[in-house]
Amino acid sequence: MTTLRWGAATDTGRVRSNNQDTPLAVEGLFAVADGMGGHRGGEVASQLAVRALESGFVERRAETLLEAVHQANDAIFERASDDPDLRGMGTTLTALAPVEGTDEDVEDEVLAVVNVGDSRTYLFRDGELEQLTEDHSLVEEMVRNGRLTPEEAEGHPQRNIVTRALGIEADVDVDWLTVVPYTGDRFLLCSDGLFGEVDEGRIASVLRRLEDPDDAAHELVRLANDGGGRDNVTVVVVDVTDDGGRSERASAAVSQPVRAPQPPDMAGFTAAVAPVTGEPDPAPAPAEALSGRRRRQAARRDRRAERPRRLTWRVAIFVLLFLGVVGAAAAAVGWQARRTFYVGFRDDEVAVFRGKPGGVLWFDPTFEESTELTRADVAPANLRDVQDGKEVASLDEARRYVENLREIAEGRTGPGGGGDAGTTTTAPPTPGPPVGSTTPTTEANTGATSSGTTTP
Ligand code: MG
Repeated sequence: MTTLRWGAATDTGRVRSNNQDTPLAVEGLFAVADGMGGHRGGEVASQLAVRALESGFVERRAETLLEAVHQANDAIFERASDDPDLRGMGTTLTALAPVEGTDEDVEDEVLAVVNVGDSRTYLFRDGELEQLTEDHSLVEEMVRNGRLTPEEAEGHPQRNIVTRALGIEADVDVDWLTVVPYTGDRFLLCSDGLFGEVDEGRIASVLRRLEDPDDAAHELVRLANDGGGRDNVTVVVVDVTDDGGRSERASAAVSQPVRAPQPPDMAGFTAAVAPVTGEPDPAPAPAEALSGRRRRQAARRDRRAERPRRLTWRVAIFVLLFLGVVGAAAAAVGWQARRTFYVGFRDDEVAVFRGKPGGVLWFDPTFEESTELTRADVAPANLRDVQDGKEVASLDEARRYVENLREIAEGRTGPGGGGDAGTTTTAPPTPGPPVGSTTPTTEANTGATSSGTTTP
């Protein structure tokens, strides 16, 4: 059993002198009628329509609802024929009612929607607003025929001309469709005074924001008046608060392995929407029509599946932030790894390198400049340091370190320099201030040159 909650609002607007719209929102039946014709005619026609609909809808069946619409047409047509003042009056009518499902393949209870004219019934589901009814208006028919673009239709001077209405002729074609309701669905019935002033994005925003259907209906009427209020405006909002476990059953069906080709039809939360024009059809829909309905349902499901999930942008932002953090960390490591220098061996040559000995992560050191020193020139006491890579803070310090190595080498080999083992073992250089501070001096000796460097 489907449980509904609803709210309704109607207003004359800011330009018209009387309200020719009539809303209906009672247990099990909801409607909006927008009357037209003469001073009184519109008002009378819309009220007659709603009254006839209510009294004619005696059984919760789609056929009964259709029959009630035809009775409404008869009532208005006859009244207009009887009263010269009301001649030519008519009204739009869109209505919604829970009815027994006529198609056991779908559900035992559905919502039936009927429509004549350019009032609309929308379904707001999963945050998206979908117009269920087709407008019977000159402009919309030109759009459907490709003779006008939707943009051209918006400000079209003949926008208000309806091509179908109740009460104008002895008989009328009525569009109808059925929708399988699910908890959380919102149905919006409205006259053109709403969507003529408030675009669908803003309508959807209100339906998203205001949980109470009565609040939503009144807010939409307020927005229409704020937008100009050039027409009467009527809004009925109907919420499905409980679908009798249909959603759960559908979820369970989806999670079950598919044995036969038919279960996804039941499982999908797609509205079974089958607009039909013409006479009431008391017989169940023929098999061919059902397969057409299934195809439409499948197409809708496919479109939903193709649509990116609403959380996608959040995931994208998270990924971008994550990549940003990782990128910044990598850049910091790279900068740190590449800002220092060291003196080491390039084959047998003493050379200066940029970076850290051995590299950091994927930042390998690079050759910066050569020196004229070779491995043989390096005093044994410094050999280990150079072998490991003598780290310094700048290129200048590296050069000073190399200069000290050179001086020691010259001291070892030069005249009176004592190139003997004794000299070499006691002469670790202390090239520049930072270098000297990290190189232990074991003995004072020819390294006096070093101390000269460190403490000029
Ligand atoms: Mg209107």
